[in-house]
Amino acid sequence: MNALTSRIAHLIRMQGPISVAQFMSMALHDPELGYYATHDPIGARGDFITAPEISQMFGELLGAWIVQAWRDQGCPTPARLVELGPGRGTLVADALRAAKLDPEFLKSIEVVLVEMSASLRQAQAEKLKAAPVAIHWFDKFDESLTDQPLFLLANEFFDALPIRQFFFTERGWCERRVGVGQSGELVFMLSPAPVPLHLPHERGAPKAGDVYEVCPSGEAIVEQVASVVSDKGGAVLIIDYGYTDVGFGETLQAVSQHKYASVLDNSGESDLSTHVDFAALARTAERSGAKAHGPVDQGALLRALGIEQRAERLMAANPDHRDAIASSVERLVSPQAMGTLFKALAIVPRHASKPPGF
Ligand code: SAH
Repeated sequence: MNALTSRIAHLIRMQGPISVAQFMSMALHDPELGYYATHDPIGARGDFITAPEISQMFGELLGAWIVQAWRDQGCPTPARLVELGPGRGTLVADALRAAKLDPEFLKSIEVVLVEMSASLRQAQAEKLKAAPVAIHWFDKFDESLTDQPLFLLANEFFDALPIRQFFFTERGWCERRVGVGQSGELVFMLSPAPVPLHLPHERGAPKAGDVYEVCPSGEAIVEQVASVVSDKGGAVLIIDYGYTDVGFGETLQAVSQHKYASVLDNSGESDLSTHVDFAALARTAERSGAKAHGPVDQGALLRALGIEQRAERLMAANPDHRDAIASSVERLVSPQAMGTLFKALAIVPRHASKPPGF
C-alpha cells in the first residue's frame, strides 16, 4: 500500500467511510502525494493524450469559435477569456494564435488560466512565453472573475472533478462510500441508510444495481459561469467525454500509462476521471438564466467549424506531414476514435444567436 493510500485509510479509520467525491479529491489533489502534484499527466509520456495535443487544429478552431462568439455579441470590451484546466497550455496557445486574425479581439481581452497544479502552471507559462497578450493564473474560478463578459473554454476539465455515486438497492438509493476492508485495504461499501434523490424524469425508473452519478462541483462551476454569461454576456464551450439522460451506469475510471488501472489501489498514481453528465450541466446553465446549446458530437462540431478545409491548407503547406495531419483529423472526428464519445456544450446569453457548429 503506498503512502497516500495509507493516509486515506487512516482518515477513514478516524472518521468513518468517506464519499467517492472525497476519495477522488484526496487521490487527485493531495498537495504532496496526489496525482496532480506528482505526475505530468498529459502526452505520450504521461497517462493520457488530449485533443489539443493531437493537433494544433483543435485549438485554432476553438479560438476562431470564441472570436466569432465575441463578434456576434457586438465585440464587448473589455472581456475576459478564461480556460479551465489548461493542461500543457497547448489549446490556449493555438487559440490565441488563431485569434491574431482579429487584433481588436486580442486588444479587448484579458486571459485567465484556472489551474491548481503548480507544475502544469509552469508548463503553461513556458508554452505561452510568446503569447500576444498577458496571461494571469487563478487556482479556481472565483468572484473576481464575474465582473466582465466571459468567454470560456474547458476541454477535459469537468471529467476530472469529483463525483458522488448512488446505487439502487431494495432499500432505495444508497450512497457508495470508500471504507477500509479486513486486511486494511480500501474497499467500496454502501451507506446503510438510503438517501432521498430527485432524478430527472428522462432517466426512467431505476432497477436494482443501477448507478447514478452527480458532480456537485461541476454543477457549481457551471452555475457560476452561466450566471456571468447571462448577466454580462459571453460564451462558454465545454468539451469532454460524456452522455445525456440515458439509463444508469458507472463511469468512474482510473488510467495510468494509457491503460486502465484500479480505482482504489495505489492512490495518486493513476488519473481518475468520469464521464460528464451533459444533460445535468445544460439544466444547470438554463436554471442560471443562460441558454444551453447541444451537446453535439465533437466530430460534428469540428467538421462544422471547417477542420477538413483547415487540414487541406496545412497539408498543402507541409506536404511531408500529409499522413500525420490526415490521421490526426481522423482521431479527432471519427466515431471510432474521439468523434462521438466526446461532446460539446455551448452556453450563451438567452437572446444571443446560436453559436457556430450547434
Ligand atoms: N485541457 C487540457 C488538460 C486536461 S487535464 C487539455 O485538453 O489538454 C485536466 C486539467 O484540469 C489539468 O490541467 C488539471 O491540472 C486541471 N484541474 C483538474 N482539477 C482541477 C481543479 N479542481 N481546479 C483547477 N484545475 C484543475
